[in-house]
Amino acid sequence: MTVVTRFAPSPTGFLHVGGARTALYSWLYAKSQGGKFILRIEDTDIERSTQEAIDAILEGMEWLGLVWDDGPYYQTQRFERYNEVIEQLLAEGKAYKCFLPAAELDAIREEQMSKGEKPRYPGTWRDRTDHPQDQPFAIRFKTPQTGSVVVKDHIRGNIEIANAELDDLIIRRTDGVPTYNFCVVVDDWDMGITHVVRGEDHINNTPRQINILQALSAPIPEYAHVSMILGDDGKKLSKRHGAVSVMQYRDDGYLPQALLNYLVRLGWSHGDQEIFSLDEMIELFSLDAIGQSASAFNTDKLIWLNQHYMRALPPEVVADYARWHFEQQGIDLSQGPKLEDVIAVQAERVKNLKEMAQISRYFYEDYEAFDESAAKKHLRPVAKEALLLVQSKLAAIIDWNTNTIHDAINQAADELGVGMGKVGMPLRVAVTGGGNSPALDQTLNLLKPEQIEQRISKALEYIAIRENS
Ligand code: GLU
Repeated sequence: MTVVTRFAPSPTGFLHVGGARTALYSWLYAKSQGGKFILRIEDTDIERSTQEAIDAILEGMEWLGLVWDDGPYYQTQRFERYNEVIEQLLAEGKAYKCFLPAAELDAIREEQMSKGEKPRYPGTWRDRTDHPQDQPFAIRFKTPQTGSVVVKDHIRGNIEIANAELDDLIIRRTDGVPTYNFCVVVDDWDMGITHVVRGEDHINNTPRQINILQALSAPIPEYAHVSMILGDDGKKLSKRHGAVSVMQYRDDGYLPQALLNYLVRLGWSHGDQEIFSLDEMIELFSLDAIGQSASAFNTDKLIWLNQHYMRALPPEVVADYARWHFEQQGIDLSQGPKLEDVIAVQAERVKNLKEMAQISRYFYEDYEAFDESAAKKHLRPVAKEALLLVQSKLAAIIDWNTNTIHDAINQAADELGVGMGKVGMPLRVAVTGGGNSPALDQTLNLLKPEQIEQRISKALEYIAIRENS
């Protein structure tokens, strides 16, 4: 059997972390079994579905690298097929037309509730054949009245529901639109879905869907209903918890590798291991190892993973994601060092790619002004001599590399009989505009000698102005 899984979002909002985790689990399971992963857009709720949401979902999936093998399918393009199956069920007597007006049904429900009963459709039209002409009707599925449905769930074990608990659910509304639960069934059948991974909020739909699948003699998939994600405060994750859209994480400077690693561990584990490359996830993932209890979001852990991946991934890979942030911040990367070389020296120093761009501007353009406190502290008259000397030593370098730069700075300090810091700190402020940078030899090596020369002159000017004021 070839495993086929799907991610079936309703496009009523962006791709949030809960959806992304479901998509990841579904994707991982398909990959781990050498199977196929399908993307299906469940857009039957025309009022709430939007093109923006579809685009946001596709963008999120692409950014995460959750590539689908088939699709995206759109339910709104499949109405003909749903209607065909509805006709089949009607012809086989497995579904029926229900002419009960909504107002009457409401009244029945109210009465049931006033008696403390569960509101349900009383089966009014289940067996009637005296159909009125020209009257609107819904189509209902004939749910078996006896027996039970067993949902085989990889996370929750077997869940048994008595059919007596289930209504004859509407599969096509009075307005002619097939209902959500029905479309899912036809899609899962037509698309050959073998494993349904979805949120636990769908658990009540599953027995209804299984009954319809059975009526169609369709194979019943296996299920995995994933528990929900809670915020740091133990409440259901919502917009209140800040960044919940996957793309917000990109905007905030996270690597998709970090978010994927974070999401896989949010409910799934393999011993105590925290760090999983994508290949490892695929190799080790199993639906049975997903936990039953809700998982709480932990931003600190995500930050930690992001820092890990910024350092551990090859700088070229990090650069592919960092480039966008530099562009967002208006930094022109066409002049200056290769981005991966900047990444290699800065990765240790930041929490995310947004900060990476923020602190790396001086590699690509001259800073506008010195950081005030760094300049006050280090660009003082006493630094003049050191800056002049190191400027000439650097200017004399023939082969510009970290070793020759390092030697030039050392020699300047030696000749002045001072510690490295007395030369290094003014030089750092002169070159970067501030008091923080990677090791000076590495920093200077990424810049051009003439840039260094000019920036030191600028610092000397600053000192001169200060001396004279
Ligand atoms: N469209 C549903 C949702 O976005 C998912 C349904 C399913 O996976 O079966 O919650």
